[in-house]
Amino acid sequence: MHEIGVLTKTVDLVENLAKDNGLDHVGYITLEVGELTGYVPLFFEKYFPIVIEERPLFQGTELRIQTVRGQALCSECQSLYNVMKQQGKCPKCGSREKKILGGQQFLIKEIGY
Ligand SMILES: [Zn+2]
Repeated sequence: MHEIGVLTKTVDLVENLAKDNGLDHVGYITLEVGELTGYVPLFFEKYFPIVIEERPLFQGTELRIQTVRGQALCSECQSLYNVMKQQGKCPKCGSREKKILGGQQFLIKEIGY
């Protein structure tokens, strides 16, 4: 599971940011997770309580996850389609040549307190 590693790094980062800004509590963290990262949002939710254990800054912190669809533009016929749903193949012309437009990101979108 890659999720626990990336989540631990994220919480470390948020913890440092919060400390640098003199915060004593983090209310929520919003993560933006692209479908094409391969991360399973469910695992983030599952591991979050474990990762924040014994970190007083994160008492009652809410983890919010926004998933972003994997969008692609077909290089052959310029159709827009959902990469996951179409298994990476253009539904119109069948080509696998494409430009990925979104869904590859993993980022901290918002930190609330
Ligand atoms: Zn196409």
